[in-house]
Amino acid sequence: MSSGKLIVISGASGVGKGTVLGIMMQKRSDLSFSVSATTRAPRPGEVDGKHYFFISRECFEEMISNDEFLEYDAHAANYYGTLKGQAEAKMKKGHVLLDIEPKGAAQVRKSASDATLIFIMPPSMEELERRLRGRGDTSEEQIKLRMERAVWEMEQRTWYDHVVINDDAERCADEILSIISGLED
Ligand code: 5GP
Repeated sequence: MSSGKLIVISGASGVGKGTVLGIMMQKRSDLSFSVSATTRAPRPGEVDGKHYFFISRECFEEMISNDEFLEYDAHAANYYGTLKGQAEAKMKKGHVLLDIEPKGAAQVRKSASDATLIFIMPPSMEELERRLRGRGDTSEEQIKLRMERAVWEMEQRTWYDHVVINDDAERCADEILSIISGLED
């Protein structure tokens, strides 16, 4: 029997989900992060097994056929997926945070009806673009693709359980933590 819940966090690439999740886990050590598998290349500073499991397309497709994903999606020319075994093991110890996009979130909602879905919005589109460029590792073409996708992603926020704005990472983390505390009452 698992005791924790799945907490899905979505929001456009560059919205600051990683920072917010990091603050949340510092403040609550019983929260754990489900490390996804992806076929995209690591960014500078990203660590295999910590930020993602970086695997080949061939390996990802084999794992799809072995039914190893709770959900997966192909976007920005790459696969991303939540590993079923890992999420289930971590749920035995507490709530598990999933940083996944809306198509994956919709799959989680179907398979885990008690999951909580939270959407993080940027303060503005200009700020989102500025943050994406600030990463310095994303090509012009990637920025264009990611901004187009951001518009679509933000339209999906209407069916999430909660929408929070990341105007300040610490404040945003606190808001999500209080949503999580509310689930425990
Ligand atoms: P990035 O390449 O910037 O790390 O992530 C791009 C997008 O992929 C983000 O919106 C992130 O939430 C999403 N993502 C990361 N891991 C997963 C996953 O396991 N499944 C799905 N569906 N999306 C994911």
